[in-house]
This record gives sequence, structure tokens and C-alpha cells, in this order.
Amino acid sequence: MSGLQVKIGLECHCQVTSLKTKMFCRCSSDYRGKPPNVNVCPTCLGLPGSLPYLNRRAVEEALKVALALNCKINRKMVFYRKNYFYPDLSKNFQISQYDFPLAVDGYVTINVNGREKTIRIRRVHMEEDPGRLVYKGRIDTSPYTLVDYNRMGIALIEVVTEPDMESPAEAKAFLEELRSILEHLEVSDGSLEGSMRCDVNISIAGGTRVEIKNISSFKDVEKALAYEIMRQRNLLRMGREVKRETRHWDEVRGITVALRAKEEEMDYRYFPEPDLVPVEISDDFIEKVRSSLPELPSARRARLVEQYNLTEYEARVLTADKQLADFFEKLASIHGKPKVDCSVVINELLRLLNEKNIEVRDLKFTPKEVADLLFMVDEGVVSWKSAKYILRRMVETGEHPKKIAEAEGIRRISSVEEIEKFVSKVFEEHKGDVEAAIKDDKVIHRLVGEVLKETRMLADPKITFQVVSKRIRELRAERGLASA
Ligand code: ZN
Ligand code: MN
Repeated sequence: MSGLQVKIGLECHCQVTSLKTKMFCRCSSDYRGKPPNVNVCPTCLGLPGSLPYLNRRAVEEALKVALALNCKINRKMVFYRKNYFYPDLSKNFQISQYDFPLAVDGYVTINVNGREKTIRIRRVHMEEDPGRLVYKGRIDTSPYTLVDYNRMGIALIEVVTEPDMESPAEAKAFLEELRSILEHLEVSDGSLEGSMRCDVNISIAGGTRVEIKNISSFKDVEKALAYEIMRQRNLLRMGREVKRETRHWDEVRGITVALRAKEEEMDYRYFPEPDLVPVEISDDFIEKVRSSLPELPSARRARLVEQYNLTEYEARVLTADKQLADFFEKLASIHGKPKVDCSVVINELLRLLNEKNIEVRDLKFTPKEVADLLFMVDEGVVSWKSAKYILRRMVETGEHPKKIAEAEGIRRISSVEEIEKFVSKVFEEHKGDVEAAIKDDKVIHRLVGEVLKETRMLADPKITFQVVSKRIRELRAERGLASA
């Protein structure tokens, strides 16, 4: 059964977070953390007599995305009304696109465990975001639904793939690449809550397609797909049919639940939006936007490998998050040891970000402060081990590394005289170990460990070992014993 082929397609709704206003009116698009229903006007609410007015910058932003996804651009695009009754859009239709979308037939190359694969893009179209439905507890048991229209009318770019992904890991890799592309274009900030929301469809062995709606994190896309593959395989194994339906991912319980029978396209009664004229997209406009495209993740990865001698893997980890790659490049330009700087960013900094569940932009320091810390290591002022601890404190407090080192008495003890004082103290307190070490070299390491602990790990371990060994040799000589 496990050999049954899985086909996964994605529909990704990406908010154009670079715009200050909504798509068809002048309401603010800054809705996060706002009281409900304050960013609304007659147009986005669809009150009688109001007319939509297309935000030209939204088209430009969507065009950037379509070009970055290697799509063919339609010279004429048309907005449609997608009719449905649902409380998240007070007009009872969504302005979207149907025939004549902005762009079609693109592709993105992903990489899963070192293997490259091309995922075809079926279409890229523009539409408005619906409002936000707020439930009490779970969607299927909530006694009521609250509606917040602040989000309604925000510009969305919908990216629809062909069903080219064959595993949850490939779907995740695609989403990460898409997010990185959007961030490099500075069209959509994927780290904002709800800025990228996915519908996934999945079928097994050429069977019925099931859609899972509105998954808001990449981790959940992977989990929902894994669950759905298991659910569908179990149904097939028991000889039951997989129903064509729309399901909801319940992230708390980690399962998908049936929402409704899947609606057909014809159910939406698409028709051209009579309040908006078709948009002509000229070659000049396309070329102007194309020539303004910044460096995209794939090109950046190649450059990082070339310029800093990084591995493919390192370049991939960095560019998965534009802010992280930017941080690295700034650090490398100041500190000037790219291999070390890369290791600090992806092994130390990224681990702390994940542990504290924060983004690069939440850091209360800049690459300059990390460079200062690394200069302290280079100058032997603090050990590498202390530096890791100081970096953690920097993430927690935002203080300058020098200040943290001073305040917490962190320095590197490498003076023999100073270490000898600690050795004397430890030899006094661990007479048993000293006796054992005189007889057995292996015990010396235990004593070194004690001395390091006594110095709060600030002493240079090599010098400490030399001092302890020398003391033991002297004791052996005093007793006329040869060194082992
Ligand atoms: Zn409005
Ligand atoms: Mn849509």
C-alpha cells in the first residue's frame, strides 16, 4: 500500500504586505492587533453605490511575483466575481480572477535532500482577502462565529501549482522556496501571522481529490498532509472510497475533519466584475518590472557559495529566510571570516531564534554587535564557549557583548600564575583525586574538570591541563615515582 502514488497540489494565498492600503479602496491594510472592524469603508464593505478602484501598485507587486515564478504574463487580465454566501465577505462575492488571470505556466525549482525537482505553476492571479472569522475554541464546536472585516479587501496573490509534489516534505520545500522568493521581492513578509495561507489538495493512486482549507503554517501543511495520506490509505485498505470533500485541519487535535462536500467551480457563478475594466498589461510595463527584480534566492545561493566559499547546504539554510541571509552578509562584511560567521549564524543564532520562537527582526542587536563579540574571541578576550553564552544573553537582553562580559565577569583566564591558584585550591579540596591521579594518569582529567569548574569554565583548558599535569609530575618526583 505504501507504494501508492501521492499527488499534492497547493493553492497559496499570499498577502501583499508591502502595500499600505487595500486592493480596491484606501482603507489601511495594517490590521494585525487592531480592534475589530475599524479598517472598513463603503467600498470594501460593498455598500450600495460604492465602486472599487484598483490599486496599481498591487498589480505591479503581483507582476513581480509572476515574473519571479517564470510565468507567462497575460497582456489582458480581467477581474471576476466569485459568488458565494459566507460571512467573511459582506458583498457575498469575492473579486478574483478566472479566465484571463495575471499569469500562467510558470515553475519553481525545489531541493529536497539534495535532489532538485521542478514544480510547475499553473497560474498566478490576484484577488481580495476575505475578512477574518473568529471562533470560540474549535471551528466545529464553537457556539458562535465572530466576524472581523479589517482584513477584507487586502490584496492577495494566489499561486496555484500543478499536482507535482509527491510527499509532504516536497510540499514544505516548495512553500519555503515560495516564501523566500516573496521575501526577496519584498512583496510579502512570510513571518507575519496569516500572511501566507495554503489550501492543499491531495489524491492517492489517481483517486479522488480531497482539499484541506486554510492551513496557516508550513509545519501544519506537512502535518496535515501526513495525516491525510494515512487517512486516505486506511480508507483504501478497507476497500472504502475517499469522498470528494473539503476538510479542515484541526491543529490542536492534529487531524483533518470534514467541513463540506467540495463545491464545483460552476457553483461559484463566476462572471466578469462589471465595476472594473479589464487591465491591459503593456510590454513596457512588464519590462520595467522585470528589470527592477532584485536578486532572487536561487541566484543568491549561487553567489553565496561562490563569494564566501559556503556549501550548498549552508547557502540554502541562509536563504530560506531573507533576513537571516542579510544578517550573515552584513556580519561577514564587518568580521570578515565568512566560514566562521556562517557557522555562528546558522548553528548558534538560528538555534536561539528557534528556541525562543522569534524572528531575526525581533533581535535587539545588529550584526555589528555579533562582529564585536567575534573580535573578542579572535583577540583571546573570551573563549569560544563563553562567546556562545554571551550570544544567548545578547538575544535575551540586547546588551552589548562587552557589557555582558564585564557585568558577568566573563573573561578568558590564560595566565599560568592565575590558573595555578585555582589548581592549588582544587588540590587542597580533592586530596583523594590527587592521590588517585598520582597513580593513574586518567584521573588527571577529572582534576582538570574540577579546576575548570572552579574558574566557571573561564580558564583555558589546554593551559589548565598543562598546569595540573606538571603539579602531578612534581608530586610523583617528590615520592620518587616515575611518571606513568
Ligand atoms: Zn475600505
Ligand atoms: Mn482564492
